[in-house]
Amino acid sequence: MSGKGTVRVRYAPSPTGHLHIGGARTALFDYLWARNQGGRFVIRIEDTDQSRHVETGIDSQLNGLKWLGLDWDESVDVGGPYAPYRQLERLDIYKSYTEKLLASGHAYYCYCTEEEIEADRAAQEARGEMPRYGGRCRTIGPEQAEAFRSEGRKPAIRFRVPAGKTYGFDDQIRGRIEFQADDVGDWVMVRPDGIPTYNYAVVIDDREMRITHVIRGEEHLSNTPRQLMVYEALGAEPPVFAHLPLILSTDRKKMSKRDESIIQFIEQYRDLGYLPEAVVNFIALLGWSPGGEQEIFSKEELIEQFSLERITKSGAVFDTEKLAWMNNHYIKKTDLPRVVELTLPHLIKAGRLPAEAEMTAEQKDWATALIALYQEQLQYGAQIVELTELFFADEPQLDEEAQAAVAEEQVPAVLRSFLTAIEAAPAEEYTVEGIKAMLKTVQTETGYKGKQLFMPIRAALTGQTHGRDLNQTLWLLGRGKVMARLRERLDG
Ligand code: GLU
Repeated sequence: MSGKGTVRVRYAPSPTGHLHIGGARTALFDYLWARNQGGRFVIRIEDTDQSRHVETGIDSQLNGLKWLGLDWDESVDVGGPYAPYRQLERLDIYKSYTEKLLASGHAYYCYCTEEEIEADRAAQEARGEMPRYGGRCRTIGPEQAEAFRSEGRKPAIRFRVPAGKTYGFDDQIRGRIEFQADDVGDWVMVRPDGIPTYNYAVVIDDREMRITHVIRGEEHLSNTPRQLMVYEALGAEPPVFAHLPLILSTDRKKMSKRDESIIQFIEQYRDLGYLPEAVVNFIALLGWSPGGEQEIFSKEELIEQFSLERITKSGAVFDTEKLAWMNNHYIKKTDLPRVVELTLPHLIKAGRLPAEAEMTAEQKDWATALIALYQEQLQYGAQIVELTELFFADEPQLDEEAQAAVAEEQVPAVLRSFLTAIEAAPAEEYTVEGIKAMLKTVQTETGYKGKQLFMPIRAALTGQTHGRDLNQTLWLLGRGKVMARLRERLDG
């Protein structure tokens, strides 16, 4: 096999929509292997299935990968020695191979109509056979072909599958895999409109682009025998194959694109305020692990430690709690300005704050302090909106525990004393330090301390019995709101 430095790995997305978590995992593993080996990472766009083509699909793929922090050596945007990197721009290349395969008898024209193929299939099913192309056009002579042509039939081109052969390969993840050629009917390589099918184009491209390792999802395992047939027909050495395990949802079922318990698209992670390095770390562990207890890996560590041997065969469970934990881990370690960048837009979008351009310096400082107070707790940027609800509501909504806390006997005295302390001090003294001093005064005056003192204040003002630092919270709530809430509770 190829030595270090000559490794060439490709990610070959079909641009059928947004970059999906599964595609991102494939791309990441391709990338990590290429970088680990000091090789080249290529992105090729497989757009021959035009019925599924989405014009923004290419940008979505590339932008999503860029956001994740991946870079590539060759593709549609950066060019490269084997350009073009988009299949619809490579039709001439496929055509020249097709001519060779027709000439060598590995391929033939098929004039069958949909109806004929359907009739054959129905007959096979009636006989209890596995449906496959019945072979009507396998052996037709030139006159018959000419007759079909003059009827206006447009031929597809089929690959002539050799009878009785076994095709096998050593998958880097699953070991030896073999397929019987007889289970595969002669398959369409080129459609009547001249556009090649995936199984054909992929081989030509991987060969032309000197790809050494094909690392892709398990769903392509069943495509591999067709591809091996083309390699054989061309007298070419196939690349090394590695088929990545399925991604399973938390209940260990195959993840479906409609599963709402999992955020499926990379753009959604970006829009919800996830950190790309956390998403990369999480995705890297979907089917791979270097062994040992370590779970947090920088991109550099992933590159260094990545290996195909340590990819598992069994499905990789998408653990949403682990993702939340991991993103929180990264948010905690991130400097505040970046956390503000991640979260502030969500407060603005929720109408909690004016647009950044219209924000006063004071508002920005306040928002920054608010975000800082919740940084430890944040699982993703957009979560700031629900976490900080209590600062924006007109009145605190007391949860059950808070209601119990404010029902205690000492509460009126504590709240009244706190209100008096705030009223007695000039407004400028309503600072984090000032609040601390006031609470000290309340303690001296009422004789209550610890939980008996702080719990009612927290419960009455925030509606909750747990939360972030109390002095900070009271300062962020602001003097006016705190006084109003205290009065409301005392009078109510
Ligand atoms: N274009 C295929 C897909 O998007 C990938 C093919 C491959 O990696 O061989 O699923």
